[in-house]
Amino acid sequence: MITYRSTRGRAPELAFGDALLAGLASDGGLYVPTQIPELDPSLDAAMPYHELATTVMWPFVEGSIERDRFAAMVEDTYTVFSHPDVAPLFELGADEWLCDLSYGPTLAFKDFALQLLGRLLDHQLEQLDQRVTVIGATSGDTGSAAIHALANRDRIHVVILHPEGRVSDVQRRQMTTVDAPNVTNLAVQGTFDDCQDLVKAAFGDEDLRRRAALAAVNSINWARVMAQTAYYVSAALRVAPGRRVSFSVPTGNFGNVLSAWYAKRMGLPIEQLIVASNRNDVLTRVMETGSLTAEEVIPSLSPSMDIQISSNFERLLFEASGGDAAGVEDLLARFRSTGAARVDSAWMARIRSEFEGGRLDDDGTLVEMKRVYHEHGTLIDPHTAVGMAVGRELHRAGTPLIVMGTADPAKFADAVKEATGEVVPLPERAGNVMELPERFDVIPASLDAVRAYLPLQSDTDDGD
Ligand SMILES: *Cc1c(COP(=O)(O)O)cnc(C)c1O
Repeated sequence: MITYRSTRGRAPELAFGDALLAGLASDGGLYVPTQIPELDPSLDAAMPYHELATTVMWPFVEGSIERDRFAAMVEDTYTVFSHPDVAPLFELGADEWLCDLSYGPTLAFKDFALQLLGRLLDHQLEQLDQRVTVIGATSGDTGSAAIHALANRDRIHVVILHPEGRVSDVQRRQMTTVDAPNVTNLAVQGTFDDCQDLVKAAFGDEDLRRRAALAAVNSINWARVMAQTAYYVSAALRVAPGRRVSFSVPTGNFGNVLSAWYAKRMGLPIEQLIVASNRNDVLTRVMETGSLTAEEVIPSLSPSMDIQISSNFERLLFEASGGDAAGVEDLLARFRSTGAARVDSAWMARIRSEFEGGRLDDDGTLVEMKRVYHEHGTLIDPHTAVGMAVGRELHRAGTPLIVMGTADPAKFADAVKEATGEVVPLPERAGNVMELPERFDVIPASLDAVRAYLPLQSDTDDGD
């Protein structure tokens, strides 16, 4: 059975089910598996997606859930997706593929992990006869995916923080039009990084964390990273079984591309892992300079990547350091206090040998959306465009390039219109979000403001 340890080394090792519920470790770290399993040799491109995904993920969850129950949950998760291949591949040119991950209910790749996470959480809570409040920060897509995965589940209350005015209309409406008694939407006067800091602060407040029974579905939750490994395996097997492939991944919080890296560690033959950023390019800067440096978030056409502090990078730092939890904690403390910190050069060498980073600004994004439309007749969203252009720039000939398509273009219709002149209608599965009434409160970026919305489970003491 694989257990999970914290990147900061001061929290107990947990089984999958407990790490799932905890989200963030009690020492502020992120959970990582203590062992990486080998991909099962029975994996095959012809398997239905849910069967492949069950096989890939099983070693990570074994011991916390029965195999049949898990397999049924995974099957149920991916029948919600509207394409028969679930994560279909489209050939765009010689050795160039698009893996489109936008066929879930909220039109972005985050449904892959969150639809499963909702079911896993429900199962775990039922087993323990517990209830939780899921609190999450979103740059747009996690929030809607989480709300759609968790709405109306009896044992879960969900509170989602989004940066006011910095998510697209469709993104906001996909969150705020869900009329379920267990859903609270908060528009925070600040950036996504402020929202993420508030969530971390809520978890860091031991009393609040306990009394509100907080759980996390942000990409700090290991289960999300795990769920995403499956589509990398599926894509690689279908494009070039037995051969190396390269992936380009539109990146913000580093969760998606980290899943590809774990798939590689499980034995998937990956040549290049290309980290594609918009102008908020903290990862590309780390790769170039060897230093973590904080800069202001600049709003872009690809808002789900408008992030300057990529929380999942901590997992990579931990792995690249060979498990040096104290070193990771020290680095992050220096970064927090001064806004800049040099990464150990040996860690950096390992990271550079595994990842390549590139960036694309908004003008380049529009040009790429237009190019793809004119050359292939395909509309792509601005995030995918960043992955496509950076991938094509950094890709070395000899292996197929697979670009991960992270959202449906209809989710970012304004950018599509600007780039191509085309009006993309929302697909039917999105429902009539543009007409339904919205429900959300605007709050300042303070923990006290958030606290007022968290249902507290014990009123035996009235400490605050
Ligand atoms: C979340 C998101 C990203 C960034 O993914 P990370 O896992 O945070 O790196 C890219 N594109 C879209 C459409 C997203 O929703």
